Amino acid sequence: GKGAAMVTAVAQRLVAQRGEIDSTLAPFALTQQQLQGVRDRMRAGLERGLRKDTHGTASVKMLPSYVYRTPDGTENGKYLALDLGGTNFRVLVVKIRSGLRKSVRMYNKIYAIPLEIMQGTGEELFDHIVQCISDFLDYMGMKNTCLPLGFTFSFPCRQTGIDKGTLVSWTKGFKATDCEGNDVVDMLREAIKRRNEFELDIVAVVNDTVGTMMTCAYEDPECEIGLIAGTGSNVCYMEEMRNIETVEGDEGRMCVNTEWGGLGENGSLEDIRTKYDREVDEGSLNVGKQRFEKMTSGMYLGEIVRQILTDLTRRGLLFRGHITECLKTRGIFETKFLSQIESDRLALLQVRSILKNLGLDSTCDDSIIVKEVCGAVSRRAAQLCGAGMAAVVEKIRENRGLDHLNITVGVDGTLYKLHPHFSGILKDTVRELAPKCDVTFVLSEDGSGKGAALITAVARGEI
Ligand code: BGC
Ligand code: MG
Repeated sequence: GKGAAMVTAVAQRLVAQRGEIDSTLAPFALTQQQLQGVRDRMRAGLERGLRKDTHGTASVKMLPSYVYRTPDGTENGKYLALDLGGTNFRVLVVKIRSGLRKSVRMYNKIYAIPLEIMQGTGEELFDHIVQCISDFLDYMGMKNTCLPLGFTFSFPCRQTGIDKGTLVSWTKGFKATDCEGNDVVDMLREAIKRRNEFELDIVAVVNDTVGTMMTCAYEDPECEIGLIAGTGSNVCYMEEMRNIETVEGDEGRMCVNTEWGGLGENGSLEDIRTKYDREVDEGSLNVGKQRFEKMTSGMYLGEIVRQILTDLTRRGLLFRGHITECLKTRGIFETKFLSQIESDRLALLQVRSILKNLGLDSTCDDSIIVKEVCGAVSRRAAQLCGAGMAAVVEKIRENRGLDHLNITVGVDGTLYKLHPHFSGILKDTVRELAPKCDVTFVLSEDGSGKGAALITAVARGEI
C-alpha cells in the first residue's frame, strides 16, 4: 500500500545519504600503502633539508638548534624563561638543582596575546612581551636581578648560534609585520631597551620541540626526540653532525628542528590532500605553506571539520540543509570541542548540546554524522603524525647502524593531551610503520618552558 511505499522511499533516501557521507569521508581513510608513502616522503624531506645542495629549497627545513647534548643532571641555577607561540604566552622563573636530589621547580604566569597584537606590528608584539615580563618581574619582586634567560620561540628560526635566530616565517595564528628575516633575540633586546626599565641576559633561543625533548631527557636519557602535537605540529631529534651539512664539523650530534609541518609545500602531498584541505589552506594566514601541519595540528583540524560539515549541509545531508552563522565562522571548532565530541563517554545527547552551544541545532542523526566527521579528520591527523614519526625513528636507527632502536619521544601539545584517541592511533601507526624501533612516548608537562631553562643551563655550562 501507500504506507509501505513511503517507508521504502524513506529507506532509499537514507541509504543514498549514507552512501554520500561515506564517499565524502573515504579520502580521509588512508591505506597502509598511502601511509608508507607519507613515511617515505617525510624521510626524503629530512634528507633534502640536511644536504647542502638542497636545503635552500627544502620544504622540511631541518634547522640546526646548536643544542649539542641533552641534560645530564649537573645543570644548576636560577633562570628566566619565555614561552611564545603555543596556546598561551608564559613567563617563568625556573630553579634547577643538580646532584642526587636534582630537581626543576618553576613559577609561571600566563598572559594572553590579543589577536590585534599577534597580527599587528613587530614592535607592538615585542613591546607587549616586554610589558608582560615587566609585570612578572614586579610580581616576583625580581626587577633588580638579571637572570640568564631562555626564550622559547615556537616558529621556524634559522640559527647560527644558541642565542641567534632569524625568523624564517610566521606560522599558526601569528602575522606581525617586520619580523620575518629579523633576529628574534635582537628584536627582544631592542624592545627591552625601548622600555628602559630592566636588563636581561638573553642566553638562548629555543624551539618548543627542543625544549620539550630536553625536559623529558632530564628524566630519561633515552629521550632524543621532541614532538609537539598542539596548535602547531613539529618534531626535533638528535642528528649526527656528519649528516648536518649546513653546520661545520663532523663529530658528535646536534638537535635538529625538522619543521616537518612544511612537508608538501613542493606538492608532494597532493595525492592525499582533499578539497577540504585546500579550502582550509586558502582561508589561512599563510596560503600554500605548512601543508602537513594543516592536516595534523589543532589549529586546523576543526577547520577541516567545519569545511566538511558546511559541504554536507549544502548538499542537504546535514542540519536540514541550513547553513547557520556558526558554520560560516572560521575557527569555531577548537581542539577542545573535537576532543569532547569524540569522547566515548559522551552520550549523543551531550554531543547535541555541545553543538547547540556552538549555535548548531542538530537531530540525533546529525550528531552521529558530526561525530563521524570529527573521527575521520582526527584519525587521519594521528596517522600522518605517526607516519612522520616512523621516518624520524628509522633515520636515527640507520644513523647508528642498529638492527633495533629503543628510543623515547618527549611530547607536549593540546591535541596529544586532550584528544581521546589521537595518542593511541599515533602509537599504533609508528609501531606498524617502523617495526624495528621500540618507541616510548612520554608526556613532557610544561616542557617548552622548563626546557628553555635547561638549555640555558647547558649552554652556560659550555661557556
Ligand atoms: C612551528 C614550529 C613549532 C610548532 C609547534 C609550528 O607552526 O613552525 O616551529 O615547533 O608549530 O608549536
Ligand atoms: Mg657537519
